[in-house]
Amino acid sequence: MTTRVLFRCECCGACPDVATQRTLEGQLLDRSIAEYLDARPGGWLIWTGGGAFGAKRYACAQHRPDLTDRLRRQYGATPPIGPERGMASLAERALPGRYVPRR
Ligand SMILES: [Zn+2]
Repeated sequence: MTTRVLFRCECCGACPDVATQRTLEGQLLDRSIAEYLDARPGGWLIWTGGGAFGAKRYACAQHRPDLTDRLRRQYGATPPIGPERGMASLAERALPGRYVPRR
């Protein structure tokens, strides 16, 4: 019996293309806390969440800015309780709001 994990953009409900689906599946076991990850080639954004930062969250390339805005509003006032590396990902310069495909 084959099992398939369904990913959806939390903003529009879109599903990833086949190649991006594979990338998202490959990152399921990532244990990073409060980090942004790119899921190529579709340009999806993964918020790894973890602990006080909740579950993993996903956005399609079009809605990356919406996800980062939601997270900024949700955790922007959170005191630094997580690992330094994780909290650093909340910094403005680390927020990958726009997806620019590689050439
Ligand atoms: Zn979307």
